[in-house]
Amino acid sequence: MKRRNLFRTAAALALTAAVAVTPAFAQETFTLKMAETWGPNFPIFGDTTKSMAEMVEKMSNGRLKIRIDSANRHKAPLGVFDMVKAGQYDMGHSASYYWKGKVPNTLYFTSMPFGMNAQEQYAWFYHGGGMELMQEVYDEHNMLSFPGGNTGNQMGGWFRNEIKTLDDLKGLKMRIPGFAGEVFAEVGVNPTNIAPGELYTALERGTIDALEWVGPALDLRLGFHQIADYYYTGWHEPATELQFLINKGVWEKLPADLQEILRVAMRTAAYDMLTHSVHENSKAWASIQKDYPNVQVKTFPDEIFEAMVEANTRVLAKAAEGDEQAQRIIQSQEDYLRDARAYTNISERAYLNTMAELE
Ligand code: CA
Repeated sequence: MKRRNLFRTAAALALTAAVAVTPAFAQETFTLKMAETWGPNFPIFGDTTKSMAEMVEKMSNGRLKIRIDSANRHKAPLGVFDMVKAGQYDMGHSASYYWKGKVPNTLYFTSMPFGMNAQEQYAWFYHGGGMELMQEVYDEHNMLSFPGGNTGNQMGGWFRNEIKTLDDLKGLKMRIPGFAGEVFAEVGVNPTNIAPGELYTALERGTIDALEWVGPALDLRLGFHQIADYYYTGWHEPATELQFLINKGVWEKLPADLQEILRVAMRTAAYDMLTHSVHENSKAWASIQKDYPNVQVKTFPDEIFEAMVEANTRVLAKAAEGDEQAQRIIQSQEDYLRDARAYTNISERAYLNTMAELE
């Protein structure tokens, strides 16, 4: 009698437990469609979306899947903002500064000339109020935006002729998009934007005199080192952060645990793109040095940087004019950069300087 009671109790408990771990929603699965700006199998950027999708599927035990459409499928590499906003796609992977012509204050969440490096900018995003400001901008457009992977400091670009004075920049035709293009225009450069597929030919035929793309790993694939000898160090995109976009209605339909899995996978994939970029750029640079001794790394002279820093301040002030939100974002970045850089100076920079002296 006693044994039978025990058995019954155990069976009842087992049943209760089974009910508790399998509530109705746990069975529900979701497949989100994501449009990426990049072509299929685009190195580094495309690896980031794939690894994010794999993490999500594994961590959710298959309850959340992400189907990625590259640019060859959706045919609108720079239409990602509109497609996710309208719900045509649930998610997107792109770069916030591509939308500055549509929504000017999206500009500030990729990388700013003379701004924070990747380490400082991640600190700003995750701990210094950057995420909140970015979300404030995207809230009005029915989307959530998250950091989507960092290229690290980008190279200043490939020049066919050496730049020795400010005069050498006057009338120079250069592919350099975004805010940096506006800054360059202030010092006499004729900036233009050209699709990646046409960059090599444009430089080879002299349609442009110089171009910037990303850094050794992605530049090497496009062959610029074969036609330009001068590879300048960067100033214009010190920490280019890509972005994950999610339609707000889609996000709100996900149960809390899947939201958290997605959030963690995006954050992990984003940060991992920075380490992946460092790895691929180091390998590519070693191979350029070995196989293309014609390539010389240069840094613009001080007079050019001084003029560009002034131009940058002027262009920023113009962007902030009469725009309270832009003023708050710019101020937040300026304040954060000041304190973070003071610390970088006594830590990373001091260490690198010490090492440079020992070389
Ligand atoms: Ca670039």
